[in-house]
Amino acid sequence: MHAGIKSVLKKWGFYHPLHNSYRAVITLLKKQYLRLRYYKYSGSGYTCNCCGHLYTKMHAWQPAAADTAALQQYKVIAGYGENIICPWCLSTARERLVIAMMQGVDFAGKKVLHLSPEPKVHAWLKNKTSVTTADLEPGFYKLIDANVQAADATALPYAAESFDWIIANHILEHISADTVAMQECYRVLKKEGHAVLQVPYSTTIANTLEEPGIEDAARQAALFGQKDHVRIYQLQDYINRLIKVGFTVQFISYSQLQQFYKYAIQQDEGFLIIQKPA
Ligand SMILES: [Zn+2]
Repeated sequence: MHAGIKSVLKKWGFYHPLHNSYRAVITLLKKQYLRLRYYKYSGSGYTCNCCGHLYTKMHAWQPAAADTAALQQYKVIAGYGENIICPWCLSTARERLVIAMMQGVDFAGKKVLHLSPEPKVHAWLKNKTSVTTADLEPGFYKLIDANVQAADATALPYAAESFDWIIANHILEHISADTVAMQECYRVLKKEGHAVLQVPYSTTIANTLEEPGIEDAARQAALFGQKDHVRIYQLQDYINRLIKVGFTVQFISYSQLQQFYKYAIQQDEGFLIIQKPA
């Protein structure tokens, strides 16, 4: 990409560092187009827990063509399929699941660290408590929070036991040294603090597929189903990695989340309740 264009995109927050592309702008336009067709989805059956609108269904969201083979082969639960994008506020299924799981939490006086902050989760949280947002390359995220900080998840610039909650939703599959990032989350969490560390995962593979250090977008798309992912987690192996770092982990399966189906959460996605012990 032309350096001049890149610097303008960076300045305005439209440059997406992970993809080294205009993807943020394209996604934004795509979503605005979806919004024009909002009326077609209006009805009953589903409700968005971000904006409160009611629908017969939500927008489907499909992966890029290059990502499809790996996602299908390993049956990766990765945020694609039917009922994913809210036709009005454009929330995603993975945001709605996290918000649903946190809806009963009393955040008053709690300190939250939100890495690579997603727009709807951030909007939902920021009125409830003090939220620190951060990303490795914060430029893109200035659109979501002007105060976003620069932080590497494998070397967080925060003191031990600084936060009551850490939210890093669908982040670890991008990080080669994922165990180091887990250790960092553990370190900066207070005792009894909670971490939301959802990742795409497969239950059909025998073990996690990964290639730490890989920097080959085409290969990553073919192997892991997204050009900036470095692995596909096998669910139990992912849980074991978290436990090894010291967390307690309770897996809530999709079938146990029935009360949230009305929010059009991702089909088959379970939720991990992750906590630093007392
Ligand atoms: Zn909505």
